[in-house]
Amino acid sequence: MESDTITQSPLRRRLDHARRAARSAWSLTSRAILDIALPTLCVACRDPVAGHGVCAQCWIRLSFIAPPFCERLGIPFVYDPGPGLLSMEAIASPPVYRRARAAVRYDEVARTLVHALKYQDRIDLAPAMGGWMTRAGSELLQDADVLVPVPLHWRRGWSRRYNQSGHLAKAIARMSGVPLEHTLLKRIRPTEQQIGLSKSERTLNVQGAFALPAEQRARVHGRRILLIDDVLTSGSTANACARALLRARAAQVEVLVFARVVEPLGNPI
Ligand SMILES: [Zn+2]
Repeated sequence: MESDTITQSPLRRRLDHARRAARSAWSLTSRAILDIALPTLCVACRDPVAGHGVCAQCWIRLSFIAPPFCERLGIPFVYDPGPGLLSMEAIASPPVYRRARAAVRYDEVARTLVHALKYQDRIDLAPAMGGWMTRAGSELLQDADVLVPVPLHWRRGWSRRYNQSGHLAKAIARMSGVPLEHTLLKRIRPTEQQIGLSKSERTLNVQGAFALPAEQRARVHGRRILLIDDVLTSGSTANACARALLRARAAQVEVLVFARVVEPLGNPI
C-alpha cells in the first residue's frame, strides 16, 4: 500500500521520469564508457583481453588451416602428399565452385566466434575474423573480381538485423581492395537451418533457394566471383549459390569462409 502511495505522488513521478531519462542516456553511452572503464572480454572464455576478439589462450586453441591441404576443397591433410593432390571428397563429389579456403577448422572456439557474430551482435569481431580470412584466401582474392556474401532470406536478415557474411565480406573488401557487391545474389525462399540435416537433405533444402535478379545478370557475366560465408559444412549452400551465379555466366565462382567443418583423418587418396 505504502509503495503504491509513493508511486502515485507527483514527486515520485518526477523522480521516475528523471531515472528513465538517465537510464536511456546511460544505455546510449554505456558501451563507450564500459569500453574505457573495463577491459574487453575474450569472446570465447570471457577473460579480459587487450583489444577485441580472443585472448592468447583461445587464439592458440583456434586451429588455423595451413598447407598441406586439398587444392580444391582446402581440407587439411595430415601429411603432405605433394603439390596438387585432391582429397577423397573432392574426387568423389566435385563441388560446383572451383576452390574453397577457410581460415580455421570449425571447433569449439571457432563456433563461439561464429555464434557471437551471428546471434549476439558482435559485429566488432568481423575485422579480426575477416583478417584471418583475408590471409587464408590470399590466392583466391588475387583471382577475384568481386566479393559476394552468401545472402540471408530477408525474413531472417530482418530478425537478425544484419547478415554476418556481409560484415565479414566488408572487412575482407577493406583489407584486400576487392570490391564488394551485396545485391548480386538473392535468397528467394527461406530455408530450414542446415544443422542436423544429412548431406542429401542439405542439398535439397537449398535447391533453388538462390537466384539473381534479372537486372543483375549482366553484372555477373564474365566476372570472377568470390563467395563469402561464415561456415562451410557440406558445401550445399555454396554449391547452390555457385550454380545460380554460373547460370548467369560468371567466369568462375570460389568460396572463402571463416571456418570449415573437417572430418577427422582427412587423407588424400
Ligand atoms: Zn579466451
